[in-house]
Amino acid sequence: MGGTPGQGRQAGGTPRAALADLLAGNRRFVSGQPIHGHDVTAAAAASGDQQPYAVVLGCIDSRVPLEAIFDQTFGAICVIRTGGHVLDRAVCGSIEYVVGQLGVPLVMVLGHERCGAVGAAVDALRTGERPGGSLAYLVDEIAPAVTEIGLDDPAVHPLAIRRHVRRTVRTLRDDDLLAGPVATGRVAVTGGLYDLATGEVALLDPG
Ligand SMILES: [Zn+2]
Repeated sequence: MGGTPGQGRQAGGTPRAALADLLAGNRRFVSGQPIHGHDVTAAAAASGDQQPYAVVLGCIDSRVPLEAIFDQTFGAICVIRTGGHVLDRAVCGSIEYVVGQLGVPLVMVLGHERCGAVGAAVDALRTGERPGGSLAYLVDEIAPAVTEIGLDDPAVHPLAIRRHVRRTVRTLRDDDLLAGPVATGRVAVTGGLYDLATGEVALLDPG
């Protein structure tokens, strides 16, 4: 793993270099030695064009601010957040844009421990009470991961969190406009899990 900040930011960078950069940023965050944490200023924001090297899809959870946990500055990563990192057409179109138009080589789907959205899906299936409004969409999209684990499993919540990340990764790899660049290796779609207690991001194998 190369740890040099900015390694993955060269034009035409590889998925491997992008992932190394992202994880190096997380290590800086975990070690309490961020290089960008002090630099969240208007001057830094105005300092240049964007040349993002990764897009991270994460949850809306207020404990998981994605630029901070990867120690990234302005212009470095594109961030999309929805409850339980649930996909819809706007999310997929946004990822297609950054991969296709901005040449980004890495898509990371980042779940996190104690995810309330996954918990809501567990509760809905357990009680049979589907929430109203558009919240029902979130629950419906997460429910298959819960069902695959099974409500009888005492660890259904943490296991469904991981399963839902893997399902989201698979859906994106099969996306109409992403499948081609994924097949050639120009783009990688990777799943990760954020530990709220330690701040560490662990990669999830495809499972
Ligand atoms: Zn969450």
